[in-house]
Order: sequence, then C-alpha cells, then structure tokens
Amino acid sequence: MARYIFVAGGVMSGIGKGIATASIGRILKSKGFKVTAIKIDPYINVDAGTMNPIEHGEVFVTDDGIECDQDVGNYERFLDENIYTDNYLTTGRVYQSVINKERNLEYNGKCVEVVPDIPNEVIATIQRAGKKVKADFILIEIGGTVGEYQNMLFLEAARMLKIAHPRDVLFILVSYMPIPGIMGEMKTKPTQYAVRTLNSAGIQPDMILARALVPLDEPRKKKLFNFCNVEIQDIISAPDVKSIYEVPINFEKENMGNRILKKFGLKSRVSDLKEWEKLVKMIQNSPLPVKIGIVGKYFESGHFTLMDSYISVIEAIKHAAFFFHRKAKITWISSEDFEKNPKKLSKLKKFDGIIVPGGFGSRGVEGKIKVIEYCRKNKIPFLGLCLGMQLAVIEFARNVCGLKDASSSEFKKPSENFVIDVMPEQKVLLKEKRYGGTMRLGAYDCNLKYGTVSYKSYGKNSISERHRHRYELNNRYRDILEKNGMQMAGVNQEKDLVEIIEIPKHPFFVASQFHPEFKSRPLKPHPLFREFINAATKR
Ligand code: GLN
Repeated sequence: MARYIFVAGGVMSGIGKGIATASIGRILKSKGFKVTAIKIDPYINVDAGTMNPIEHGEVFVTDDGIECDQDVGNYERFLDENIYTDNYLTTGRVYQSVINKERNLEYNGKCVEVVPDIPNEVIATIQRAGKKVKADFILIEIGGTVGEYQNMLFLEAARMLKIAHPRDVLFILVSYMPIPGIMGEMKTKPTQYAVRTLNSAGIQPDMILARALVPLDEPRKKKLFNFCNVEIQDIISAPDVKSIYEVPINFEKENMGNRILKKFGLKSRVSDLKEWEKLVKMIQNSPLPVKIGIVGKYFESGHFTLMDSYISVIEAIKHAAFFFHRKAKITWISSEDFEKNPKKLSKLKKFDGIIVPGGFGSRGVEGKIKVIEYCRKNKIPFLGLCLGMQLAVIEFARNVCGLKDASSSEFKKPSENFVIDVMPEQKVLLKEKRYGGTMRLGAYDCNLKYGTVSYKSYGKNSISERHRHRYELNNRYRDILEKNGMQMAGVNQEKDLVEIIEIPKHPFFVASQFHPEFKSRPLKPHPLFREFINAATKR
C-alpha cells in the first residue's frame, strides 16, 4: 500500500523544495522503504523541452525519454532510483490527457469538468507512477508557492486524496523565514500566512520545513506551533548549507524520518545513511580543489550568474571529484569572450580540465570551437557533451582533416561539409514544425570499441545512455576523421550512429553525443566524468 507525502512551498519560490523533497526521499529509503518522487509544474507547457534554459533551468531527460524539470534530476541523484514519465506533471500534460480521453469517449457521455475531472486525473497519474515501481512512499512536490492561482487544482487533488485515504496522506510545507537586515530578527509571520492560505485550500500541514539562513530557535518554533497548529517536533530547521548533500543529514538531526514514519504508524526497517554521512564528512573536510572550466552560454542573466542551466553537469563533476576526495572548483567561461578576443584563450591553461556542454543554435559556437582546439593542442583534459561532441568533430575536421568550412547544418550557414547533420527522421519533424518532445530522447544502447578510454572507463562494451538532440555525426565523414586519428569509440549499432569520439595520445579527450551527466549519482560517479576528473587531478 502506498503512502503519499505532498510537499508545497510557502512565502516564495526557489527555496529548495526540490532538494528538500529529494532529501526526505533519501531518508525514507535509508530506513528500508521503496520511494519514488513526482514533480508537478503548474505551467501550461506539456514538457520542459520547449523552454529556454535561462528561464527555466536545465531540461532533464529520463531513461524513458521525457524532457522534464531539473528537480527530477535531484530526485534521481538523491534517491539513486530512476524516475519515469508519469512522475512529471504539468497543467498542460494533465489537460492534454483529459481532453484525449474525452475525445475517445472515455467519460461515457458525461460532462467533463475542471473539478473533479482534472484533480482526478492528477490523482490517477500519481497512483500509476507509484504502482510502476511498487513504491511504499510517493513524494509529490507541488511547484510554485501556495496562494498562487496556478497550482490550486493540484492542491485540490491533494486534498481529495487525503479525504479518500485519510491515514495515508501527509502534507509538508517548505517555507521561508526571512531575517531582514535592518531588524536582524528571524520573522515567522510570512509562514503563518502561508499556512492560513493552505488552510483555506482545505489543507493543514503536518510538518513545516523552515528554510532560513540559520536553524530555528525555540521562540520561533513556539510561535509557529501556536499560530500554525503544527507540533514543535514537526517544525524542522532547514538552514542554508554549503553542500546540498548535507540536507538529509540535517533533517535527520531533527529526527524527521522517524517523525514521518510515526505519523503513518510505521517503524524504520533498517538504518542505512552511513555512506552518505561519510561523503558529507569528506566534503566538509575541505579537500583539495580540482579546477574545471565549463564553457557555455546559458548562465548570464542581468547582473547574475545562474547555474541552473547546467545543474546535472555541475553535480556530475562534483560526484567525480568526491570519488577522488577532491572538491570541484568550477568556473564559468563565456564562449563569446573568445570570439571577441582569441588572446584570452591562454587563460584556459590554469584549468585542470575543460567541459563543453550541450546547447542549441549558433550563438557562441565559434568560441567553443576555439576552446576545443586549444584543449586538443595544449593537452588539457577535455570532455564534450552532445553539442560539445559535435563541435569537437567540427574542430577536428577543420583543423586536422583540412575541411576548412566544416560545420553543422544546425548553424544555418552555407557549407560544403556538414560533418554534423540533421538526422533523416528529424528532418521531417522540423519541416512540419513538430518541435515539442520530438528530438531523439531518452536511453539508447551504445557499443564501445575495445581498448578505448571509454571502454576502459566503463569496464564493459555495452552501455545505455540518455540523449536529447536532432543532429548527428554525418557518417560520410567517418573515414576521413578516422584516417586523421579521431577514434569512433562508441557506436549505436541499430542506427549506425557515432555516440562517442576520442582523440588518442592526449591525457583525456572524449566527447559523447549522449548526456552522461544525467546518470551520475553522488555515491556512483559516472565513468566518463570519473576518468575525466582523474586525468584533471593528474594535471
Ligand atoms: N543542438 C544539438 C542537436 O540538436 C545538440 C543538442 C544538445 O547539446 N543537447 O543535436
């Protein structure tokens, strides 16, 4: 029998509901339960794939090929479990599915209405997601903040589920306690209002996770108890942390896991947070840094640098660094800088390794190509991801194979040599303007060539990795690339697509068409990231 834990946010967005949800999941898993987590995004978009990463952050991709919110990545990393399509809901997805059912006469001639048909659809999806993995606990994070018009129907679904299964549903409010500079005192009032708002939706929170700069003191906890009807032991401090991986440990310091189990009348079956604790201790012991540069274009937003667009890449670097008891020191490098001023390239020398991650469109690509050339010639460990691989192929074709105009047809500039070209099935989709959810998405198999760095990293020859792209290495150029020394280290045999390239006689020069970052986990770094960091630490 599944139990449901809804997590909603109070006061403001961006306070770490995703990490909180993922951490609660890890805690329950460590107590011997099967856990899955669901993300609800209240927007109309059917999936996250059509949104600009600067606006919405990274688009995460699951094994079964849904383009979803980056929090799903947090769930996978913290839970060390795969998450599937039904674990991601948006308003658009729910309506689309209700409308499809109506068109198929599945409502038996009844009038289909927003309430209760939309919340019922939400509940059915949540239950399906839980059944698929036989979950004991289903965590459901409701995006946005309580009081917003947009997530009301999802809160209504939560309320309805609670009436149907009163003993199996729990509500947790993740709320923010500001400490305004001029007052210097932590204020609980905004959270009191958030609870009232939740109450007016028919929901009483069972627990409050108090996000703040520092842990809550007794007077603040008492205040929340008095005004919000939540027991003092169920008000859990969630202070700012240096590493997100500390969060489950902090929650457990306040006995959160057992409090949750108690509310469901359950007891912990085992206790298994030891490896995680060891990891956190190692991180807190300020290990030596390894300096990694990420060359991208999706991180400048006005006066701020946003890291959300590359969150899985960042976490994958960190996991690999943890493995070697190192701390990843990551620097953002804007590819466009090198286009304006190629002299700046020599600055790359100070890095132990460089990553060129995924991306779309032609902006910034020439700068990235210059960076890749510099890494190749100066033997700086290099890892290319998706677009990063495509640009590595273009660089090699231009500067080693002598195909001066080598390019990708994605960049819409005339060339005789599209060494990267649109996949034939994608051509049709683009022509018909069918953009949403139509890329080559999700897990595909790949065979590794014996003796390559990739083969040695994985320690086997058959792998499966996640994809999100429309363009591919053009097989017409495989011969000339290989003759000039580029290795086709991984190939998808079914479609004969090159998935990994390598340049031998280099400390580490590997690039993949897939996104290895999606499968990295804190205690199990991804083999390619691990060996990349291994090479970087040797530099
Ligand atoms: N824009 C490239 C393509 O569509 C690369 C995509 C990516 O980096 N995710 O193939």
